[in-house]
Amino acid sequence: MTNTAKGAVTFESLGLGVATLAAVADMGYARPTPVQERAIPLVLEGRDVLAGAQTGTGKTAAFVLPILDRLPHAQNGSGPLALVVTPTRELAQQIQKVAQTVCEHTGHRAVVVVGGVGYEPQKDALAKGCDLLVATPGRLLDLVEQGCCNLGEVESLVLDEADRMLDMGFLPDVRRIVAMIPTRRQTLLFSATLDEKVLGAVGSLLRDPARVQIAPKGTVAKTVDQYVLGVTAQAKKRVLVEVLRREGSDRVLVFVRGKHRADHLCRVLRQKGFGAAALHGGRTQSQRTHALERFASGEVGVLVATDVLSRGIDVSEVSYVVNLDVPHDAEDYVHRIGRTGRAGRRGWALTLCSEPEYLDLRDIERLIKRVIDPYPNAEGIDCGQPPFVPDPKRKWTDRLPGKKARKRMRRK
Ligand code: AMP
Repeated sequence: MTNTAKGAVTFESLGLGVATLAAVADMGYARPTPVQERAIPLVLEGRDVLAGAQTGTGKTAAFVLPILDRLPHAQNGSGPLALVVTPTRELAQQIQKVAQTVCEHTGHRAVVVVGGVGYEPQKDALAKGCDLLVATPGRLLDLVEQGCCNLGEVESLVLDEADRMLDMGFLPDVRRIVAMIPTRRQTLLFSATLDEKVLGAVGSLLRDPARVQIAPKGTVAKTVDQYVLGVTAQAKKRVLVEVLRREGSDRVLVFVRGKHRADHLCRVLRQKGFGAAALHGGRTQSQRTHALERFASGEVGVLVATDVLSRGIDVSEVSYVVNLDVPHDAEDYVHRIGRTGRAGRRGWALTLCSEPEYLDLRDIERLIKRVIDPYPNAEGIDCGQPPFVPDPKRKWTDRLPGKKARKRMRRK
């Protein structure tokens, strides 16, 4: 691998071919991200790879580029030769988008099959033959069972967001899919975390894998400034409206707990004159796609989302993230705020925390190993009565009450 004068690794130096490099130029990527820098040469060598990398690190291109770079072309009506299995439709569509750009240069055919939409167009696409198939597990198995898809030619397999697939109960489906693929294959596994749970469940599907670890659990991108503001539960929506007025309401992502709350917040924001769209698991696929498109194009400035989709949202240049509710699961916090400050740009995130949510906030601070700074622009905002101010002397190393003690506290 050769370096440029400044010492930075380039895409050219990773061993990618001319067509793939033209696709990289099309996508506007100047330099490889760390996961691309490490994974691309390994994939090109044909190695199996176990990569610990979250969304936002550039992991999609880290597997799409080298796989298509070395992939043969399927005979008419056959294939797929490479398969990417991913947990959600949104992720599948994002991967397909990157794959499509590369295919335009390499001449491959990429097909995506996901649930929630009609079967026929997907069957037609498969019948024409495909080189790379991007799929969610359930729909893929349906199509295989209906005889519309044969996995016997797959040479490269990617298990994307493996930890998420396990959490969503896809392990039996994934095992069934892998059992249909020849054992002589290249396998790449991408997961936000590479812990015992993941490795125990699917680690044995890889052969002598090279390990690439980018973001250890709880690592927040250094490009995201994080703030917290103590508020009452009743004051939250009002505070959000004030923050949007002060900080701007263009390309803002707001996370809330629950789909009803998301819909209600959208209505409130629209009444206050903000353009807002909701993205949650209760919406149909076309509604979700429509909401994402309206946000991406700038037609609506505020996207209100639930955690179901916190990992699936790929919109570049989110100006800031607001957590209207503190997530119960500290890892969700990391994913939520990872939607801003992507690919080297600076971003910031504000969490509105009420007293009952304080322990969840402390859990997050323990995970990220730091205390979140107070929101510096809070002066004059009515945060409700009685005021709630997170203890300024708290330390992330403080011992916190365990599960039983918390239950007792909640009963009081
Ligand atoms: P991912 O982790 O694959 O979800 O990618 C996160 C975001 O980073 C996407 O919006 C990509 O378009 C962007 N991205 C990926 N690789 C690069 C790169 N080398 N340079 C700049 N942006 C990138």
